[in-house]
Amino acid sequence: MTELSSSYLEKGLTLAQYQANLRKYGFNEIPSKKEFTALKIFVSQFTSFLIIVLIVAGSVSIFLGELIDGFAIFAIVIINSIIGFIQEYKAENAVAALKKMVVQTAIVVRNGEEKEVAIKELVPEDLILISEGEKMPADCQILEAFSLKADESMLTGESVPVNKELGDGRQGKLFKGTIVTTGRAKAKVYATGINTEFGKIIDLVSKQEKSRSPLTIQLDTLGKKIALVTLILIAILFILGYLRGIDVVEMLLTAVALGVSAIPEGMPIIVTLTLALGVQVMARKKAITRKMNSIETLGATTVICSDKTGTLTLNEMTVKKVDTPDGNKEIPGVGYKFNEKVTLNKPAEKKLLEICENCNNSFVDKNIIGDPTEIALKVLARKGNFSKNYKELDENVFTSERKMMSSLHKVNKGKEIYAKGAFEEILKHCTYILKNGKVVKLTALDKKTYNKIAEKHAKEAMRVLGFAYKPFKNKFDEKNLIFVGLVGMIDPPRKTVPASIKIAQDAGIKVKIITGDNAVTARAVGEIVGLKIQNIALGEDIDKLNDRDLKKLIEVTDIFARTKPQHKYRIVDILQRNNQIVAVTGDGVNDAPAIKHADVGIAMGIKGTEASKEVADIVLKDDNFSTIVTTIEEGRRIYRNILAFIKYMLSANFITIVVVGLLTILGYPLPILALQILWLNIATDSLPALALGQSRGSPEIMQEKPHRKNENIFKKFLGFIIVAMILQTAANLLIYFYGIGLDQNAGINTEDLTIASYARSLVFTQTVIFELFFAFVCKEEKSITLRSLGSNKALILAVLVSFILQLGMIYLPFMQTIFKTVPLGLKEWGIIILLASTAFIVPMVTNFTKDIFSNGRRKNLEKI
Ligand code: ADP
Ligand code: MG
Repeated sequence: MTELSSSYLEKGLTLAQYQANLRKYGFNEIPSKKEFTALKIFVSQFTSFLIIVLIVAGSVSIFLGELIDGFAIFAIVIINSIIGFIQEYKAENAVAALKKMVVQTAIVVRNGEEKEVAIKELVPEDLILISEGEKMPADCQILEAFSLKADESMLTGESVPVNKELGDGRQGKLFKGTIVTTGRAKAKVYATGINTEFGKIIDLVSKQEKSRSPLTIQLDTLGKKIALVTLILIAILFILGYLRGIDVVEMLLTAVALGVSAIPEGMPIIVTLTLALGVQVMARKKAITRKMNSIETLGATTVICSDKTGTLTLNEMTVKKVDTPDGNKEIPGVGYKFNEKVTLNKPAEKKLLEICENCNNSFVDKNIIGDPTEIALKVLARKGNFSKNYKELDENVFTSERKMMSSLHKVNKGKEIYAKGAFEEILKHCTYILKNGKVVKLTALDKKTYNKIAEKHAKEAMRVLGFAYKPFKNKFDEKNLIFVGLVGMIDPPRKTVPASIKIAQDAGIKVKIITGDNAVTARAVGEIVGLKIQNIALGEDIDKLNDRDLKKLIEVTDIFARTKPQHKYRIVDILQRNNQIVAVTGDGVNDAPAIKHADVGIAMGIKGTEASKEVADIVLKDDNFSTIVTTIEEGRRIYRNILAFIKYMLSANFITIVVVGLLTILGYPLPILALQILWLNIATDSLPALALGQSRGSPEIMQEKPHRKNENIFKKFLGFIIVAMILQTAANLLIYFYGIGLDQNAGINTEDLTIASYARSLVFTQTVIFELFFAFVCKEEKSITLRSLGSNKALILAVLVSFILQLGMIYLPFMQTIFKTVPLGLKEWGIIILLASTAFIVPMVTNFTKDIFSNGRRKNLEKI
């Protein structure tokens, strides 16, 4: 490795050195193993018990010389598997793509320029700048460190952060994947990618279990129960049919076909697929989902606890006021440009600019990098034509807990301590003030004067920072500082926020602001964005209360100001314990516990630390509050679509079993043949069910209350399923007996399963049409309107395709031979459509009976 020169410490690698190292060591990435293979998924389609039975039955048919039947069965098994395969493959791919969505970046110094790069582009010997909350992008040697601590638990299992400082051994190094919990540092990369400590143990880590969504788990259990019941039912059916003398092979096939169609095997996969597609939609709307399962919870959110700075506001700070003992100044300009100049050359003003420029970790050069508050201060210094850097010797870093920072600098011949931070905080540390170039005692009157000015700025939604300094004697501390003045900076609220807050409120979601800023500023911003403010509480109030009283306080409070991260955690915790579903935003390392604890943890893509993103469910690409609301809307839409096809698959699948069972018990000929059942299953379960997952949200979706988390789906739909079953069974029986009449007139023996019959053609077609109608019914939570009928184009297309295929089934001679159907006349179609239309009254009948049964009890349930 090259010798460390002072030029390296300032400038990093030259571009030529960088390129050489990149060629030599390659990208800083750890090759990921493919976790699934297409072949494996394809094979898994054939491993279910009933499919194996079907394959066996198909082979038997061929063996017995029933070639058409046998090959048709094989064809259907294959079509079924291909559909299953496509769904599962798409789902797996989408899940895998999730992992690539958040690109981690690092700040590197190369060729004398600081810039933010994807961590993939780091090479050994790169000089990087590390700050609080960073997840280490590579293994590094520390070159300069202030208050540095790292959480190395992922390497060592030890969760207490360890001190890091210049030196040899582990203490002087930072390792890839560990998290910097406090402080900042300059460091030199010495190992990247697979050569890091982390790279060496990656095999252990990558074997993490795949987490499944609560809904998928519920459906899995439900599916198993349904499978068990179905298997018992078809076994009984098979025995009954056999005793009645129905052909054994045909009866076995019918039983198995009924089983295949009744068991909703594909359901969990379609849930995953729908969630995964939802993730892609959300990404387009600037919300990156890190945990797919959170989408289910998202729609159930009842409270959003939001940051103020950067979430409700743009986080584009501009200093507009400078108030020192030398006078009050207005600062021209908005944003990070500093071509408009201002004269600030009186003693306190000059000092203030020195502090702004030096007690500051942002970069305002070719690239602008850093905390907007600090950038604004550097921009102010440049507007006042000050840009002199004094060498930094030490630093007490800024944390949200302390709300201030101080640094020690070599100034000319001596040393000085500079401090800046929340105005009250700085004032607390001052005992002197710089007046007319002289250091004098800070009086009560002075304090009153500046408090007044600060309050005035805060009322105009400005963030107020105080500044102080003192010459260094023998100790670097923050005591007895000399106050030099304050600044007020604006941070304009985002334009879209008021509308989003309104939408959230209409949707029954409460919005609370939790901020580190002061109460007056927070109130002013809250009012601008249209929050109705009942009460404002302070972080220190929270500390004084027990859980019971805090609960009462939280209920009436809309803004929590001057909070620390632990307050956020406690607020989230209390809300959750009172059955609220909480979405919370955060950016710092210390926000991570609250983000992790919340039902929906939201991190900021731009200003957020890697530590907060790590534990978040969702990362906002644009840090914007409005994106949260959009995401919730999306979550509700996706959840509702999932419910729609679950409802559809659960009710549609079971009906045929009931009809066949009833008629077999009563001693009538089979109303539908095995191949017809199998086809029915394909025609209705695949395309329409998938399309149901793609419905667009209705505008009313954000005018309803949030749904309940982890609700029992089966219970929720039981009434609906039973009503559908009764109506469709009745319709089936009616058309069946009508068909038997036609058969008799035409001299067809309905008992003979090898020839085409009216009865079976009618039952078959009527069932398909019913299910196609039924898809539209399941799409809507309440009632269908003409507009809602047309709102899902995919569904219309799917239904149309299935319908045309069904026409083929009964009118194409080739299909007539395979599926044993007869062509139907207009009158028959009339009856079919009429009977199938019972689908549309299922919701009405369900609601009607529900009202009768649960009169009065409902009201109690509504209260959350
Ligand atoms: P928030 O982001 O919710 O406003 P923070 O915890 O980040 O809250 O900041 C708390 C307070 O600390 C701010 O209101 C401001 O007065 C002060 N502050 C913020 N950033 C800095 C900084 N880089 N240096 C010194 N003080 C700061
Ligand atoms: Mg902040």
